[in-house]
Amino acid sequence: NTIMAFELPKLKYAFNALEPHIDAKTMEIHHGKHHQAYVTNLNNAIAGSETEKLSIEEICKNISKYPMVVRNNGGGHYNHSLFWEIMAPNAGGKPTNEIGKAIDAELGGFDKFKTDFSQAGATRFGSGWAWLCVKSDGKLCICSTPNQDNPLMDIADCKGTPVLGMDVWEHAYYLNYQNRRPDYMNAFFNVINWDKVNELYLNARK
Ligand code: MN
Repeated sequence: NTIMAFELPKLKYAFNALEPHIDAKTMEIHHGKHHQAYVTNLNNAIAGSETEKLSIEEICKNISKYPMVVRNNGGGHYNHSLFWEIMAPNAGGKPTNEIGKAIDAELGGFDKFKTDFSQAGATRFGSGWAWLCVKSDGKLCICSTPNQDNPLMDIADCKGTPVLGMDVWEHAYYLNYQNRRPDYMNAFFNVINWDKVNELYLNARK
């Protein structure tokens, strides 16, 4: 078998690099155990099939054609691969680049964006994700999806290209924040890598 299976992407920073906002043990388990399990289960589910030749984005865009095991684990792989990239040490703050200007122009300014994005995470019952997406018309939108679904998926209520995703599964925060999802979401804003979000935003609008 010469086809490359999906692989766990390497973190570009140390497990403890996002402290005190996200603790090292949570990062280690989240990346090394949870994300690894999505990758392993996805690879097992598609082994020997034509799906192995596709990108994770292509799989997500046609997810209605696949069994639930691919939706859950393929979504898990895509979502977490994005998640590690849009966080960084010495990050956060208010973006002043193109994405910052678009948030001001289209989403009512940064403070309203923070409120609405947090609201999307807070009102997602159980497990899921909050998203900032670029819609097909090039405009930004905020939404949330359950479980490991995402806005690339053809079954999603909100469709678009994700440029920022916030994991609100308990495994993303429970060790440090227990049931306090709002505290975790507030802390998440201190680690958002707006340079990367901006890069994704510009690519999505090409
Ligand atoms: Mn997660």
